Amino acid sequence: MGMIDYVYFSCPVCGNRIQGQSKGREWPEMSVFQWEDAPWYVKTDMLGRRYTCPSCSVEVEITGTVTVDASPVEVEERKKQK
Ligand SMILES: [Zn+2]
Repeated sequence: MGMIDYVYFSCPVCGNRIQGQSKGREWPEMSVFQWEDAPWYVKTDMLGRRYTCPSCSVEVEITGTVTVDASPVEVEERKKQK
């Protein structure tokens, strides 16, 4: 059973930091992430959630896409093998 992580992101309107929560991680300790540094599974759990900015009261929704990518080094190695 994982704990809730807290993720901070910027309000797109006023730039205020908004606190979101994520349950995307199975880790027995609470962590605090900045959105830019949060692991993909933490962000994925937040997709579609809505928060209200405490500063300007705008409602923001977490949107985005999760992409799967190979490391560039590995791609280069596989090209050489062909
Ligand atoms: Zn705001």
